[in-house]
Amino acid sequence: MKDFLRDTAGFAMKIRCITVKSKGNRIMNSQEFLDILKSTGGYITNSHIIATSGKHIDSYMNKDAIYPHTKAISAVCRAMAEPFAKDGIEAVVGPALGGIVLSQWVAHHLSEMTGKDVLAIYTEKTADKDQILTRGYDKLVAGKRILVVEDILTTGGSVIKVVNTVKKVGAEIVGVSVMINRNPAVVTSELVGAPLTALASLTLPAWDEADCPMCKQGMEINVSVGKGRDYLAQKAAQSKAS
Ligand SMILES: [Zn+2]
Repeated sequence: MKDFLRDTAGFAMKIRCITVKSKGNRIMNSQEFLDILKSTGGYITNSHIIATSGKHIDSYMNKDAIYPHTKAISAVCRAMAEPFAKDGIEAVVGPALGGIVLSQWVAHHLSEMTGKDVLAIYTEKTADKDQILTRGYDKLVAGKRILVVEDILTTGGSVIKVVNTVKKVGAEIVGVSVMINRNPAVVTSELVGAPLTALASLTLPAWDEADCPMCKQGMEINVSVGKGRDYLAQKAAQSKAS
């Protein structure tokens, strides 16, 4: 267990590092995972980004960026599968859309590790935002030992719905394996209702404009991600009006 600390104008970002082990060989620690994410553009740091909430942030997670890169996603999913290799998992279930890719790769690696046919299943969002098993998948899940997977946990909402849906059809949740837990103080095993494992647990700082250290430094706004473009257009309109 190792801590990475980075200070930004007195604010600290803390990343808890875990190391996944397999027969004594290290598979991937949190920093290696975040480096893979960075290499795909899925994790931007040392930037000046406007979040959807309007807050100013220096780091940004873009989970969609990693999915097109099969080598990266395969390596990440192998690390997500590894802690559950000896738990007799029979099916992996994740919420669409990310969960479609994750369940496929994690189940593939568990199948390779165990020599058994581990199934990959996804749930779908309903109009009232529940996660349900359709396409007859409830019959494939019923009575089985299940691993639930997800990319990024912020409130844990989707994962809790998947856990409840899977339990309802009479399956046993063995664990929940995620890439990133953004809110480790709140989103715990207790909250999701099953043992929870994350490749990285980190809380990213966010500031109001008035307190933003990047604004104080005069750092350029990132217009490639987040709401930077809208923010700058608004600023321009305001200065024209005044
Ligand atoms: Zn700022």
